[in-house]
Amino acid sequence: MTTHPFSSKRLTIIGVGLIGGSLARALRRAGVCDEIVGCGRDEAHLQKAVELGVIDRYEIDPAAAVKGADVVVLAVPLRAIVTVLKQMVGGLSPEVVITDVGSAKGCVVEEARAVLGKRLCDFVPGHPIAGTEKSGVEASFAELFDRRGVILTPIEETDPDKCARMRAMWEVAGANVTEMAVLHHDEVLAATSHLPHLLAFSLVNTLASLDERKEIFDYAAGGFRDFTRIASSDPVMWRDICMENRDALLEVLAHFNNDLKQLEEAVRDNDSEAVVNVFTRAKTTRDRFCG
Ligand code: NAP
Repeated sequence: MTTHPFSSKRLTIIGVGLIGGSLARALRRAGVCDEIVGCGRDEAHLQKAVELGVIDRYEIDPAAAVKGADVVVLAVPLRAIVTVLKQMVGGLSPEVVITDVGSAKGCVVEEARAVLGKRLCDFVPGHPIAGTEKSGVEASFAELFDRRGVILTPIEETDPDKCARMRAMWEVAGANVTEMAVLHHDEVLAATSHLPHLLAFSLVNTLASLDERKEIFDYAAGGFRDFTRIASSDPVMWRDICMENRDALLEVLAHFNNDLKQLEEAVRDNDSEAVVNVFTRAKTTRDRFCG
């Protein structure tokens, strides 16, 4: 007998990697699922997930995996979501709630609208603001979402009871849940997550292409490591995110390019006052928001 506001008789996770595996572990820690079923393309990955105790069993066919499930979590790369939706839709049970963890929401909502039809009310789009630069079930851990944010972006059609159920699931996994409009989510995340990843990938490539690269990497200090840690993230996952949130990303990138150009001009003009003003404003802001 559980006292948690969330419980599930059968929860299916499609994509048992870093995020899907960590959610399974967090829900296991809370003891709120009778059975967790995994699904993915590679049987060896799923067997590993069973060995690690992350899932109870697995299916390769998404329609078989979602059969009898009361919760379905899509935790695959963004561009795989539409395929998985099409593959699983025929197997969904009437009482199911479907959610996803994709890092951009406009594209997922559009695909869900096209594939789910009348079942769209069962879909609660979501995005945990937690992760690491690692991938795969081996990198998953139960504490990933503890005191971290999860943004739900319910749409007009979303059943409020199902949205409340997904809020309860993430809270029991340790997260603080907020709600946001889809478009606003994509604009905010383009600035706070997608742009920094793009810059980190680009900076490492710039340094790697310089003639003295061996020496540059030999002497790379803490600042380089701090700034570029996220450039070790999965290239395919980040390709999907940049392409699927292209408009919002391009807008904030234009803004950044403009600011960088001004800083470049200040350095070229020996305008030390302008340079220190930029650095001071940035330091004050970061100290205030990041402690
Ligand atoms: P991951 O560790 O690579 O896991 C992705 C999983 O999806 C893998 O287990 C993979 O297993 C499976 N998969 C890939 N394509 C599939 C397909 N077509 N059908 C079925 N399964 C498939 O990636 P992740 O970091 O957990 O990211 C998953 C999602 O979370 C992405 O949408 C991402 O945008 C979002 N997200 C990531 C982070 C982060 O920091 N990593 C944070 C928040 C949200 P197989 O290879 O065995 O198929």
